[in-house]
Amino acid sequence: MAKTYLQTIHDRAVAVSDEAIAALSGFDTDMPTAATDPTETLCLLNTLGSPATTATTSGRFFGLVVGGTLPAALGARILTSAWDQVVFNDATSPIGVKLEQVAAKWLLDVLGLPAQSSVGFVTGATMANFTCLAGARHAILAQQGWDVLERGLWGAPRLRVIAGAQSHVTVLKALTMLGVGTDVIEWVPCDEQGRMDANHLPAPDENTIILAQSGNVNSGASDPVAQIVERANGAWVHVDGAFGLWAAASDTTRDQLAGYESADSWVVDGHKWLNTPYECGLAICKHPTSVHAAMATQAPYLKVGGDAAPKDMVPEFSRSARGVEIWAALHSLGRDGLSEMINRTSEHAQTLAAGLRKQGFEVLNEVVLNQVVASLPLADGWAAKLAADVQNSGDAWFGPTNWQGREAIRFSVSSWATTDGDIQRTLDAIACAKEGVGF
Ligand SMILES: *Cc1c(COP(=O)(O)O)cnc(C)c1O
Repeated sequence: MAKTYLQTIHDRAVAVSDEAIAALSGFDTDMPTAATDPTETLCLLNTLGSPATTATTSGRFFGLVVGGTLPAALGARILTSAWDQVVFNDATSPIGVKLEQVAAKWLLDVLGLPAQSSVGFVTGATMANFTCLAGARHAILAQQGWDVLERGLWGAPRLRVIAGAQSHVTVLKALTMLGVGTDVIEWVPCDEQGRMDANHLPAPDENTIILAQSGNVNSGASDPVAQIVERANGAWVHVDGAFGLWAAASDTTRDQLAGYESADSWVVDGHKWLNTPYECGLAICKHPTSVHAAMATQAPYLKVGGDAAPKDMVPEFSRSARGVEIWAALHSLGRDGLSEMINRTSEHAQTLAAGLRKQGFEVLNEVVLNQVVASLPLADGWAAKLAADVQNSGDAWFGPTNWQGREAIRFSVSSWATTDGDIQRTLDAIACAKEGVGF
């Protein structure tokens, strides 16, 4: 069933049809009293479920920042599902721990990050931001003699947080989950590409976390981390590079990240530009002891296995063998394949931008990575309608956005599966839909 799904996904409409959505009512039954044959259960799942999936792995899905899934990474997920390992420590899963260690080493190397950094395997950038910032919170307060694990935040020395005005919502969510409200944030204005203006950084101190970003979710632009670190004055500099940090894996795009490697902690998602299946977020920290202090869990019954315990570096206790999928993606691509994928998708974004300009669109961003934001000089409402029309055509999927006060359509070319033909077909569909919005 999965094989057939994958073999036909590239020819299917990207958006889900109304019929497929209506057919989901087939699931609105009472829970069966008697057991069902597992094959019958799966057949029902496939018959009603598969048509109701957006074809995000098809090569013509450009919404949010959604990579596809590399064959080796998908195969690894299927195999690890059969293994059903809990990568809690090396007593419960020697292979899970081993491949997390190998993948971590390869990741730090291919991303050009300090080799002593810790790598925590979490569900996504949201939890990776949480993990890194928990480490930062712990380290900053510990420096002032305040053990946040014992005493919490009531009465604690006040943390300062400096953030770019274009910080991703999930970084702010991570902050609020850590008991640091958004009211404390000292906002830094951004330029027209969404980059933090380091000249307007309030003077940081050792009590400060600075939230920087590599890869703005609309424009793809990155904050000038080198300049920020220069002015950090002992502050902890955190970089949310959920998709953008993968640009570090290519000689062509690495310069866009502007000194990213000198920060204290970083976040990147396997399930975005690396094209692993979902729930492959990575929390990377130059100060492993701080993350360990914030995340370690001890109890007498846990004294099994060696010291290498993934459970002590991430929020989750029981969890799957995510490192295996990351390892499989990196192993199957190799260094050359990874940089080639980053370059190829970035070139697709260039082609898309050039084609849009030819059709009369104004491309609002400098296309520095895989993101394109384009606008038409029309009254409000056109972008949502144009995006919906293209979605309904089945040819491609992208969404509307608002960028620097302008209504726009937005593309993220993040899938290994996207071909030249996919880009052309998308441009053709846009040319058709454009008439529908009166341009
Ligand atoms: C996608 C994204 C996130 C959130 O990542 P999840 O994996 O969905 O939790 C955070 N920051 C940026 C810049 C992103 O693009």
